[in-house]
Amino acid sequence: MGWRDKFVALIPNSLVRLFAGPYIAGNSLAVALQRAEQLWKTEGLQTTLDLLGEGIQERGDIQQELDEYLHMIESIESGEFVSVSLKPTQMGLAIDPELCRINLEKLLDAAQAKGIEITLDMEESDYTSATLSMYRELCQKYSHVGTVLQSRLFRTSDDVEEYLEGFKAHIRLCIGIYIEPSAIAYTEKREMKDNFYRLARKLWERGHFVAIATHDEELIRRCLKLAEEMEIPQDRYEVQMLLGVPRHEIQQELRKQGIPVRLYVPYGTTWDHAYAYSRRRLVENPSIAIYVARNLLQQIWHFLTGKQRKQIHS
Ligand SMILES: Cc1cc2nc3c(=O)[nH]c(=O)nc-3n(C[C@H](O)[C@H](O)[C@H](O)COP(=O)(O)OP(=O)(O)OC[C@H]3O[C@@H](n4cnc5c(N)ncnc54)[C@H](O)[C@@H]3O)c2cc1C
Repeated sequence: MGWRDKFVALIPNSLVRLFAGPYIAGNSLAVALQRAEQLWKTEGLQTTLDLLGEGIQERGDIQQELDEYLHMIESIESGEFVSVSLKPTQMGLAIDPELCRINLEKLLDAAQAKGIEITLDMEESDYTSATLSMYRELCQKYSHVGTVLQSRLFRTSDDVEEYLEGFKAHIRLCIGIYIEPSAIAYTEKREMKDNFYRLARKLWERGHFVAIATHDEELIRRCLKLAEEMEIPQDRYEVQMLLGVPRHEIQQELRKQGIPVRLYVPYGTTWDHAYAYSRRRLVENPSIAIYVARNLLQQIWHFLTGKQRKQIHS
């Protein structure tokens, strides 16, 4: 455990809830769908919906997650602007990979008719091989499935060769949120980002689709320049960001250039899962705490000064 993990572990849930506000759509599917529609209509942003949850160890708990995801797919009107993201351990990967495959196939069958894409999120390195094997297997049967590669891991370049051979994959490329040991992963952000760029090139060279998932504007621009130099058609990439990270300007700039931008929109029906997601964000980016605190103070200030003005006028 690094100092950040230790520090974040000490923060009480009530405070984490406060920090989580901007990053989580709400506590129901209806709220998440409403948010997705609003982002599409008002800002032209596509979304990928995620039901917060992971690391399920009890068979009995998996059915509930599966049902919620089936309900999600049923409720999405079309895959034009909304896709679905899930953690393979939500569908049973940690307990029984065969059960996980059966569940994923149920979801993919339901999503197929509506043209909804499903992305298998990437979790800790314990699950990398199992997730990529599962992905490769699903790609034999389905074309509307994607997964995630993490540039933090040393192995990822080899994974492209081992798991993505012989078909066109749909890859979300990101740094990776899980802190991994230095024996298997880069420890410096600079190295992770240089690897990100190398991986984008490798994926495009092999004809794969790449979702550039980062908030680092310089890295986004480097990758887009690379796509231009490599003459990659625009239907083979998009940019993805997390809901709540303030990147309005670049999102709109990219949209004007015709580059699709998709936001990851998580929602949670219980706070337990939302805490895990939010704590990971806090560990990686302690500046979030400052950002949220500043926003909160601004809101209090506007509230107070607004009230003062009202009092003056009344
Ligand atoms: C759409 C999407 C899906 C993802 N899916 C996965 C996945 O399946 N598995 C996985 O391991 N990881 C996933 N990630 C997380 C990703 O791996 C990174 O950990 C995360 O995006 C932060 O890294 P960064 O590339 O933005 O670079 P950073 O260098 O961390 O950030 C760049 C800049 O953005 C700011 N910033 C970054 N995040 C935040 C934030 N939350 N709030 C405020 N400011 C912020 C930073 O302060 C910095 O200024 C996903 C990320 C995105 C955008």
